[in-house]
Amino acid sequence: MGSNHYQTVIVTGASSGIGQGIAIAFGKQGANVVVNYYDDQEGAAFTLSEVVKGGGKGFIHQADVGKEQEVIEMFDKALREYKSIDVLINNAGIQKDSSFAEMTFDEWNKVIATNLSGQFLCAREAIKHFQEKEPGHAEGKAIGNIIFISSVHDIIPWAGHVNYASSKGAILMLMKSLALEMAPKKIRINGISPGAIATDINAEVWQDEEKKKELLKLIPYQRIGLPEDVAKVATWLASPDSDYITGTTIYVDGGMTLYPGFVDNG
Ligand code: NAD
Repeated sequence: MGSNHYQTVIVTGASSGIGQGIAIAFGKQGANVVVNYYDDQEGAAFTLSEVVKGGGKGFIHQADVGKEQEVIEMFDKALREYKSIDVLINNAGIQKDSSFAEMTFDEWNKVIATNLSGQFLCAREAIKHFQEKEPGHAEGKAIGNIIFISSVHDIIPWAGHVNYASSKGAILMLMKSLALEMAPKKIRINGISPGAIATDINAEVWQDEEKKKELLKLIPYQRIGLPEDVAKVATWLASPDSDYITGTTIYVDGGMTLYPGFVDNG
């Protein structure tokens, strides 16, 4: 794969976990990487240092993806700096778990604001910019790419996590509807839905031996994923090598969506 297919990439929530892994992977391909973060400046600085070590460039930028003005300012800054944006990785996401009756409106709203409205706002700013590009910009190839990082919980119901599962289920239709609208304009829109990837978001599960054993029962491939597992798919899905793919979700989940309970014939 060539190194400079994607000159500029914005990765939201890139101070840790999957976003950090994806930012570093793009850095290794020589990209300019806008490392968005929310409150972990140190994490973002580490991501950027790894991007640079890998041969890329970039800057860190604080913004809450759920706040319209902050998202607009982030895109403005990226465009001032690099003139063009090629790829948006819509990754920032949170969990605020609660049984349904106990769930506060704030816990509902915060998760929807970050996971769903945040992905909408960033996608809208990216699309505005992509549409201004010359269609012949890259003959026969996409003029822009958006990857929505969703979750297996866009199709697997999750008790005690109704806010999270609702946000991810909605991302699936946001992604597909946008893909349909944008395909004639040569803008590709896809999703990656990770299964269990060892990051901060689920550290209390994979760091606990008992809970880890229970989790592995849900993963036919019998290992917990790593951010790099997702990052490798993201760089490919944003490259011309996958140019004929749009409106698709790739499940990076070790088989978690295969109904693991049926492994011994039910
Ligand atoms: P993580 O907690 O390490 O990363 C989430 C990132 O989002 C953090 O860097 C956080 O600072 C950032 N963030 C939170 N609120 C933000 C906001 N308002 N604005 C900007 N950034 C914000 O967890 P992760 O596992 O790397 O999660 C990344 C994405 O992957 C999320 O969308 C998550 O739902 C999804 N995902 C993770 C898993 C998993 O098993 N780890 C599985 C499925 C989906």
